[in-house]
Amino acid sequence: MILDTAPPRHDVASGAAEGPLGNAHSQLRSAVATLGLDDGIHRMLAQPRREITVQVPLRRDDGSVEVLTGHRVQHNFARGPAKGGVRYSPAVTLDEVRALAMWMTWKCALLDVPYGGAKGGITIDPRNYSTRELERVTRRYTSEILPVIGPERDIPAPDIGTDEQTMAWMMDTYSVAVGYTAPAMVTGKPLSIGGSRGRAAATSKGVVHIGLAALTHHGIPVAGATAAVQGFGKVGAGAARLLAEAGVAVVAVSDQYGAVHRTGGLDVPALTTHLEATGSVVGFPGADPLDPAALLELEVDLLVPAAVEGVLHEANAASVRARIVVEGANGPTTAAADEVLAANGVLVVPDILANAGGVIVSYFEWVQGNQSYWWTEAEVDHRLEQRMLMAWNGLLKTRRSTGLTLREAATVIAVEKVAQAHQIRGIYP
Ligand code: NAD
Repeated sequence: MILDTAPPRHDVASGAAEGPLGNAHSQLRSAVATLGLDDGIHRMLAQPRREITVQVPLRRDDGSVEVLTGHRVQHNFARGPAKGGVRYSPAVTLDEVRALAMWMTWKCALLDVPYGGAKGGITIDPRNYSTRELERVTRRYTSEILPVIGPERDIPAPDIGTDEQTMAWMMDTYSVAVGYTAPAMVTGKPLSIGGSRGRAAATSKGVVHIGLAALTHHGIPVAGATAAVQGFGKVGAGAARLLAEAGVAVVAVSDQYGAVHRTGGLDVPALTTHLEATGSVVGFPGADPLDPAALLELEVDLLVPAAVEGVLHEANAASVRARIVVEGANGPTTAAADEVLAANGVLVVPDILANAGGVIVSYFEWVQGNQSYWWTEAEVDHRLEQRMLMAWNGLLKTRRSTGLTLREAATVIAVEKVAQAHQIRGIYP
């Protein structure tokens, strides 16, 4: 069922929502105030354009039936079709999906990618389900949201707990329903069915382009710089590998089970082999165990949170000793932590720029799919780097001319573009 969403007035005006959605609303309020937008446009930007919550019944391998809940939130379509990942995690809630969808709108606008923002999720711990069960969950969820997705409507992609196999099942389910193969209805697909070269590592590559640019901006030589990475999944592991390849000593990484540390820098390829063999970074013989919370407080040049939201908050922000935070994850820093970090001179490169490499190459994948014409990895990588650095330079320019923080400047640039699209299109009827 499609719901007409009208969150209570207080969500928008007073920031009563908590968690990621509260932070997203607070960032929007601040951009609206800076831009002097009126209350009507503020309310249009604060509320999702469309959201759908679906029941996902699953027949488990033992024959029992479980009923899961899924969401798809389409925050905005003013600049193009909606775009955003699908998350499988026990922590998924409708409010979290709403926040992530809003951030996607800003990210696409900031990077001049012609999409609005969306996000989806199922409240599920995928580790507790067999591959065949996950396939059934994915196909049923896709069927339930089918009326609102498609290459011109809303294009899903992988996020936490989902991968290219999930996208292949979504693409197949959609294609069977419409009666033809529709590769451009998802991105992050396997290469064999129209995925893009360079997509798998795109988010990590983007994080590292920006991380290295930020080091240079701060006058810190890349060779010999130090980094800590929280989360060793699709984004974090790739970022750690590429940072190490660039000459940065990755001294600590963590996952949901624990953290490891080595002063001179970890052997990231060996750590990846250990992860593949054991399922976690914990117990890696080439490093010492570390309290995962302490990773965020290490004295490093670069801190890359690449796991979940809200990990840098009011209680630990003052203990952050990194000089630069590059947000691989979406929403890792709360609004309260932002203030503390800014006051302490920590440069925070916001998620909507830092992790935009994924959506940029997803956009390239969609373009290639629509044209049935495939680019080389070198072409993809070159265009990715160009777009990331162009957005970074634009952001520094706005920061210099306004005195805003990087996050404030990024949100202002993005919100202005989306507001302009609304204004020029007008309100129907
Ligand atoms: P993933 O599922 O591949 O990896 C997540 C990693 O975080 C895992 O190593 C997990 O063990 C770890 N983790 C979870 N909770 C943790 C905690 N409390 N402390 C430390 N580690 C923890 O997911 P991903 O795709 O790498 O996504 C990570 C973040 O990046 C998310 O915020 C996601 O929205 C964002 N992101 C992903 C992409 C993408 O292309 N995959 C693009 C943009 C943003």
